Amino acid sequence: MSSGDGIQIPSRLPLLLTHEGVLLPGSTVRFSVDSPRNMHLVKHRLLKGTSLKSTIIGVIPNTRDPEHETDDLPSLHKIGTAGIAVQVVGSNWPKPHYTLLITGLCRFSVSGLLKERPFVLAEVEQLDKLEQYTTPATDDVAAQDGELGELSHKFYQAAVQLLGMLDMSVPVVAKFRRLLDSLPRETLPDLVASMIRTSNKEKLQVLDAVSLEERFKKALPMLTKQIEGLKLLQKTRKMNPDHEKRVLSVRKGGVFPGRQFNLDEEDEDDDGDDTAALEKKVHGANMPEAAFRVCLKELKRLKKMPQSMPEYALTRNYLDLMVELPWSKSTKDCLDIQAARTLLDNDHYAMDKLKRRVLEYLAVRQLKASLKGPILCFVGPPGVGKTSVGRSIARTLGREFHRIALGGVCDQSDIRGHRRTYVGSMPGRIINGLKTAGVNNPVFLLDEVDKLGKSLQGDPAAALLEVLDPEQNHSFTDHYLNVAFDLSQVLFIATANTTATIPPALLDRMEVLQVPGYTQEEKVEIAHRHLIPNQLEQHGLTPQQLHIPQDTTQDIIAGYTREAGVRSLERKIGAICRAVAVKVAEGHRVTKSEAATPEGAALQGDKAAPPEMPIVIDHIALKDILGPPLFEMEVSERLTLPGVALGLAWTPLGGEIMFVEASRTEGEGQLTLTGQLGDVMKESAHLAISWLRANAKTYQLTNMVGGSDPLEGTDIHLHFPAGAVTKDGPSAGVTIVTCLASLFSGRLVRSDVAMTGEITLRGLVLPVGGIKDKVLAAHRAGVKHVILPKRNEKDLEELPANVRADLDFVTAGNLDEVLSAAFDGGFPGTASTHTHPQLTSKL
Ligand code: ADP
Repeated sequence: MSSGDGIQIPSRLPLLLTHEGVLLPGSTVRFSVDSPRNMHLVKHRLLKGTSLKSTIIGVIPNTRDPEHETDDLPSLHKIGTAGIAVQVVGSNWPKPHYTLLITGLCRFSVSGLLKERPFVLAEVEQLDKLEQYTTPATDDVAAQDGELGELSHKFYQAAVQLLGMLDMSVPVVAKFRRLLDSLPRETLPDLVASMIRTSNKEKLQVLDAVSLEERFKKALPMLTKQIEGLKLLQKTRKMNPDHEKRVLSVRKGGVFPGRQFNLDEEDEDDDGDDTAALEKKVHGANMPEAAFRVCLKELKRLKKMPQSMPEYALTRNYLDLMVELPWSKSTKDCLDIQAARTLLDNDHYAMDKLKRRVLEYLAVRQLKASLKGPILCFVGPPGVGKTSVGRSIARTLGREFHRIALGGVCDQSDIRGHRRTYVGSMPGRIINGLKTAGVNNPVFLLDEVDKLGKSLQGDPAAALLEVLDPEQNHSFTDHYLNVAFDLSQVLFIATANTTATIPPALLDRMEVLQVPGYTQEEKVEIAHRHLIPNQLEQHGLTPQQLHIPQDTTQDIIAGYTREAGVRSLERKIGAICRAVAVKVAEGHRVTKSEAATPEGAALQGDKAAPPEMPIVIDHIALKDILGPPLFEMEVSERLTLPGVALGLAWTPLGGEIMFVEASRTEGEGQLTLTGQLGDVMKESAHLAISWLRANAKTYQLTNMVGGSDPLEGTDIHLHFPAGAVTKDGPSAGVTIVTCLASLFSGRLVRSDVAMTGEITLRGLVLPVGGIKDKVLAAHRAGVKHVILPKRNEKDLEELPANVRADLDFVTAGNLDEVLSAAFDGGFPGTASTHTHPQLTSKL
C-alpha cells in the first residue's frame, strides 16, 4: 500500500455487507459471515477463484438493524472499502458460517448495482488514488504546505505522543512504531482510527471522509481523546506492566490488529474477569513445570484473542481441561488385607481362585508400593463378575473406580486423543477418565481388551501398550494435551471374554486370571446372596414383600436363561421385582384411598384387597410374569431321530451345547454344510465322512438303498443349528462322526450324552480346549454322560465336585470308543461288540 503500489481495483466488485464493523484501508479485520448472500459470495467467489483479483471484494458497512434483516437488499451505504481476503475459515458450529480475514486496500463508491443474487455485484469507482500518497511520515512539514500539511503534521505528532506512552517492548507497539515511520502520512488517519479505540460510528465518519483534509480533521479528535484518556489512566494508577500486552493484539497474517487499544476502565470486561479466574486456576492447579508453562503460554494467547474467534473457544476448552486434571490430586490407599478379604467375600460368592490371586496381588502392593507388576486381566464369559471384582478392588483400596470400554475402539486417537489442530479435537479416553475420576490414582478397568479393533487410524493396542508400560507411562502424552501426564499411580485392570483376540504384545503385559462360568448350584447361591437382595433394593422392595424360593430360582435358571454368567438371571429377577412392585403399589393405593370410606373397607375384603405379604413366586407366578419358559425343550426330545448328535462347543461367551443334525437325500455324493461354521469345522466334516466311508463295512453303514458306500447316490446335508456364534475349532469332529454314524446306520444316539473331541483321518481322538466350560454347559442342559478325549482327563479335576458327581465321563482315545459310548448297547462293529478291538484301533 505504499506509494509505488499503484493499486487499481477492479471496476466490478462483489460486495460483502456486514454489521460487524468498519474496514478501513490499511487495517485487517476479521468478519464472521452467515447471511445467505455473504455465504454465496464466499462459496462462489472467494473459494472458487484462482486469481488474486478474485480475492478482492468490497466491504460495505450495513447500517440496518441485523434483527430486521429481510431478503430484500437494504439500501447500501454509499462508500465502502475494497479489501483482499487473506484467510477464509469455514465452521459449522454453532451454525454454518465463514470467518474472513480481510485487509483493506482503498475506498470506493458504488456507482451501480449489476446483480443482487446470489450475491451482490456492483459497478464501483475507486476513490483513493494510492499512488498520489508520497509523503513519508517522517518527512518534515515543509514537504506539504497549507492546511493539509499542518493537519498531517499535527496528526503525526499526536500519534508519536501516543506511542511514547506505550511500552515499546511489546511487539505490537514496536510494529506500530515502524509502520508510523515508513508509511505515507496520508494513510495515517485510516490506520490510527482502526487501531485506537473508536466506535463503529466514528470509523464510519472516517470512512466517509473522502477528502484527505476532512479525514485528518475527523480522526485527529479521536486520537487526542485517546491520549487524554491514557494520560488520565496513567495518573490514577501505575500502569500494570502487562497492560499493553493485554490491550493490543496482533494476529498472524494481518497488517494491523483488528482489536483496538483498550483503555477504558469498563473494558476490563467479563472476558477479562473470566481469564483472570482461569489464570488463578492455572496457578492453583499444582501442575508440573512443563504443563504450567504451556498453560501460561496458552493463557497469553487467549488474552489476545477476541472471543468471536473460533480459536478462542478451542484454547479456552483446552485450558479448562488442563486446570481440571488431577495433576497432583490423589486418594490415600487404605489397604487392610483382612478387610479386603471380607469385602471380596461379601461381594462375591464362589470364584475362590480369583479372589485369592487378587488378595495376593493387593498384599504385594501393600508391601511394595512402587510395584511394577503385571496388569491383572480377568478373562471369562459375560456376567461372571469381572467388572464387579474390579469395582471391589477399588473399594478395598479406597480408590476411585473408572471403567473404560474398549469394545470396538479401532482408532488410536480414541486412546491418545486428537491433535488440537483438528476441528472437534478432544482428549483420549485415558485423559478423559482421569478428568472424570478427579484423582491421579484411580482404578481403571479396561473393559473388553479382546474387542480392540484395528484401522487405518493407527493401532489402538500400541497406544494402550504405552499406557500400561511402567517404563513409559509416567510421561504419557495425550495428543490433545501435548504435555506429559504421569499415569504411574493408576491401577489398571483389564477384562476380556477370550485371550485369543488380545494382541500378543498386550497379552504379554498381563497376568490372565480365568473366570469360568458358574454351575447351576453356584448360580442359585449367587442369586439368593447377591442378586435378589440387590434387585429388591433397587426396586424399593423388602424381603417382607417378595419371596423367591430356591426352587423358583432353579426354574428361572433352567427355563429362562442359558448363559455361563448370571447377567440374564439378574435381569429376570429384575423383571419379577418390577411385576411385584406394581402389585405392591396397587395394594397401597387401595389401602390409602378407598379403605378410608366404609365401601372401601368393604371392598378391601374381596377383589381389591392388597396381596398377602410376602408375595411368593411359585411356578405359576413365574409363568405369569416371565411367560412360558424359553428353553423348555429337553435334550432328549431333540434326539428322537437318527442323524442328530449333541456336541459341546466353546465360545467366548462360555460353553454351549450344540445339536448337529444330518440328513440324506438321493444325489451324487455332495456334502452341504449350513449353520454358523468356520473353515476348520468344514474340514472336520470332510474328515468325518472320509473315516466313515473307509470304515463303512466294519460298522455296517449303508446308503439309502442299503449299498455298502454310504455316499453312493446320496447327498448329505449337515447342519449346526443352535446359537449364533461361529463355532470354529476342530472340537466338533467326534460329534459329526457320531451324527453321521447314526444317520448311516439308522440308529438313535443316546439321548443323555454329549461329546467333544478332535479327530484324525485315522480315527484317533485328540484333546481339545475349554473342557470346563463345555462340561458346565452340558450340566446346565441336563446331560448325564459326557464323552471327552482321553488326553483331556486331567482337566476334569478343575470341575466343581457336584458337577463331577452328577455326570458320567467317558474318555475316548479313538472313534471306536466314542461310537460304542454314544449308542445304547454299543454300536455294531465297535470294540465292545467286536472280538478284535485292536483291528479298529489300527485304522
Ligand atoms: P462381567 O463384567 O463379567 O460381564 P459383571 O461384573 O457385570 O460381569 O456382573 C454381572 C452381575 O452379576 C453383577 O451385578 C455382579 O454383581 C453379579 N455377579 C457376578 N458374579 C457374582 C458373584 N460371584 N457373586 C455375586 N455377584 C456376582
